[in-house]
Amino acid sequence: MLENLNREIFAPGQTIFLAGEEGDCAYLIEEGSVEICVLLHKQWRRVSLLGKGELIGEVALIDRQPRTATVRAVVKTVLVPIRRELIDELLEKTDPVIRHLLKVVLERFRTTQAYMVPRSSGDSESLLEYPAPQGGLHATAARNLMLAGDIAHALVADQFEMHYQPICHLAEDRVAGFEALIRWNHPREGMISPLDFLWLAEQTGQIRAIGLWTLERACRDWPKLRRMTNFGRPFVSVNLSANQLTGDQFVEEVRNILQKSRMDPGELKLELTETIIIGRPEIAAQVLNNLIELGSSLALDDFGTGYSGLDYLQRYPIGTLKIDRAFISHLLDNEQSLEIVRTSIELAHSLKMDVVAEGVETDAIRVKLLELGCNFGQGWFFGKPVALES
Ligand code: C2E
Ligand code: CA
Ligand code: CA
Repeated sequence: MLENLNREIFAPGQTIFLAGEEGDCAYLIEEGSVEICVLLHKQWRRVSLLGKGELIGEVALIDRQPRTATVRAVVKTVLVPIRRELIDELLEKTDPVIRHLLKVVLERFRTTQAYMVPRSSGDSESLLEYPAPQGGLHATAARNLMLAGDIAHALVADQFEMHYQPICHLAEDRVAGFEALIRWNHPREGMISPLDFLWLAEQTGQIRAIGLWTLERACRDWPKLRRMTNFGRPFVSVNLSANQLTGDQFVEEVRNILQKSRMDPGELKLELTETIIIGRPEIAAQVLNNLIELGSSLALDDFGTGYSGLDYLQRYPIGTLKIDRAFISHLLDNEQSLEIVRTSIELAHSLKMDVVAEGVETDAIRVKLLELGCNFGQGWFFGKPVALES
């Protein structure tokens, strides 16, 4: 029977299928080797290496659930695809008891599979079973799988929305700018927070396209937003993700978007976190300097939550420091938070940077920040993130 089936050839590193995809095909490895990767604690880990004569993708094929793992070729690999129609045809002819048995075994396999983790990060071939499965964990894993599958179509299906939150100049009591914050309007799940899907987009590779979409959308909306500001140097802030800084073409893409929307580059601020820089400090420095040359500015987001030293502030061309909400929300009831905020503001000003306090929820906090000399505030007190009315 195998002789009659076609072969598919995969280059080293090429994806054979992704977790969350519909599984309409299993593969027999005729030549080469593949790695099986699953998402564990928000990180992709290789849990197995399979070679000649082994079968991959058979579970999703039979039980019609999305793929539970991502599979890639490690070396040049030849696969024999076994399509669903063929399996269906064979199953049809099988004894009903055997069919039922197969179903039960598959269900058990899926439940245990969700709780297996590698014994250690370096030990890719042995698996260790987690203790008793919990319903909640399983439900989360299943939801993540579903979202990983859905996110691939979210851009073309126009399911992302941009919400804007005002950033106010404290002393002048003016709206200085807006931060663009993405949301996913999922057809079944409703509005999904960026915290719940951006890390998935990083894993599935969608993040670059989404990053470009956010920039394009914010620049396109800028003329409307700009009319809602009343400050001398208005700006819109867009969040960057780690993968964006690694692309050579990123600066060119920003330039093109700015030109297309006829936007003054000086009115675009890009927000990044220390974690984004830590991964590739040299490349990051290059890209960030090029962005400054374009005329845009940079803000260091979530300041105070990172691990790095303060030399970051000198080494990178950062113009604005955004103090994390964790410190601002306890400004009035925690002496340590107050000291951290006070010294952050002094430090920023001594380095000629602006400061934005994140998460300003009450007037009392606004007043305190004003007293501490903080330039800008952002938070529910000034306004929640909302969509632009069309
Ligand atoms: P962030 O950049 O620190 O954004 C501020 C977050 O704090 C937003 O959450 C905002 O809604 C929330 N927030 C603002 N003011 C208050 C307040 O007074 N109280 C409280 N409790 N929360 C407040 P959101 O929109 O859920 O975004 C979460 C994170 O997702 C953002 O944190 C950012 O890291 C990321 N993110 C959002 N949009 C994008 C995007 O377009 N691209 C990228 N790469 N990341 C994004
Ligand atoms: Ca931000
Ligand atoms: Ca922040």
